[in-house]
Amino acid sequence: MKKLNELTVIESIEGLKKGEFKCIDLVETCLYVIKIRDPKIKAFLKVTEDSAIENANKADKEIKLYGEKVFKEKPLLGIPYACKDNFSTLGIETTASSKILKGYIPPYESTVTKKLAEAGAILLGKTNMDAFAHGASTETSDFFTTHNPWDLERVPGGSSGGSAAAVSANMCIFAIGSDTGGSIRCPASWSGITGLKPTYGRVSRYGLIAMASSTDSPGPMTKTVKDAALVLKVIAGKDPFDATTSNTEVPDYLEKIKNVSLKGLKIGKPRSYFETEFESGVKKAVLESVEMLKENGAEIIDIDLLDFKYSLAIYTIIQRSEVSSNLARFDGIRFGHLRDHFGFEARKRMMLGSYALSSGYYDAYYSKAQKVRTLIIEDFKRAFESVDLIIGPTMPSVAYKIGSKEDLYGELTDTMQTPGSMAGLCVIAIPGGFSEGMPVGIQFIGEQLAEVKVLAAAHAFQEITDFHKKFPEV
Ligand code: GLN
Repeated sequence: MKKLNELTVIESIEGLKKGEFKCIDLVETCLYVIKIRDPKIKAFLKVTEDSAIENANKADKEIKLYGEKVFKEKPLLGIPYACKDNFSTLGIETTASSKILKGYIPPYESTVTKKLAEAGAILLGKTNMDAFAHGASTETSDFFTTHNPWDLERVPGGSSGGSAAAVSANMCIFAIGSDTGGSIRCPASWSGITGLKPTYGRVSRYGLIAMASSTDSPGPMTKTVKDAALVLKVIAGKDPFDATTSNTEVPDYLEKIKNVSLKGLKIGKPRSYFETEFESGVKKAVLESVEMLKENGAEIIDIDLLDFKYSLAIYTIIQRSEVSSNLARFDGIRFGHLRDHFGFEARKRMMLGSYALSSGYYDAYYSKAQKVRTLIIEDFKRAFESVDLIIGPTMPSVAYKIGSKEDLYGELTDTMQTPGSMAGLCVIAIPGGFSEGMPVGIQFIGEQLAEVKVLAAAHAFQEITDFHKKFPEV
């Protein structure tokens, strides 16, 4: 039988409804497991033990008082989660893993954490990440590197690496991450969990410490696709505090994906994604997953998409440009410390961005990059005229050893992530096999606001596979 910390969100809710255990049991089990495992994994920057216990007791009282129906109003009541440290949490230190923000206590709450609290979810703590989300491993964190629960010598992926490791090591029931150019999908893939990068504007960025404002997308990191659907419903929606959020109604994702099948689904398989060089073990696992989709009724269609080297190139320019502008606010007057507290990676990105935006270079770099971005958006639109979804490997390799890729933070690991980010699409990364004993991820890419389609296909895949049911022994 599963231990409480190993439950999914949906299993936890069922157990609470039936009175099989209490919220306090769920929270205390997670806190206990954090105490035992986190000294090795280092997923958490801060554990909010006291408030978690207090909130669990409150949740138990509500359940006792109102019974099952309380879950209608508070769909995540009593469910403990971990949150990436770039979401502002009222009264709780928020550093984005940077020394410059050490000691910064936000005077307000991000929309995502506010919505989760209103839905009854219980914050267990803030998780480690690459500082300011610059990276794909957590190695640029100004504090420490998080270890991959599948192999402690490897990185968990990044930048939402702490959140991914916390889910993978069953230290929480679900987690929240943010994805600018792969930061949910990469760690989901390398840590063997499910990660959803929603459409840009589907989930509010209010209170998220900005990295690249034109692509930052908060999203759920979970043990199953069904859990991601449930959490997305809670955090998505129009927000008066973020003008880029979509007005489109938020559907009941979980309900919509319940009875789906892969039959007749047209899935595009981009030649450029599969013909590129990537680790043979990863390729094998991904191709086997594609085969399984086919055997279960999906139609796999070879398609042509622009080479991802273009996305990677413009991501590098646009992301650095936006970083140089966003990080300019950290002047030591309103937040934390002086600029000399910036780490090397943040400095490098600010310098590059300032260069790309400076007069004389603006047209050559930034403006040109924006034009190419439009071409990438059109390229996807064209592809989606003939297919429902696009499949690809999430990452070209399994997680690498800590310290083995110095100075390659981000760039070379982002090849398969940046196209979806540049076009603002919705993409889900789910476990799709193993190589060298490490998890391999596959991703389903959908059009903007095609979350139902993407979640449905990923859920259907999880119905016929059990990769997502495997967890590391920590
Ligand atoms: N790895 C990418 C980078 O370093 C993406 C980071 C992110 O999505 N926040 O830029």
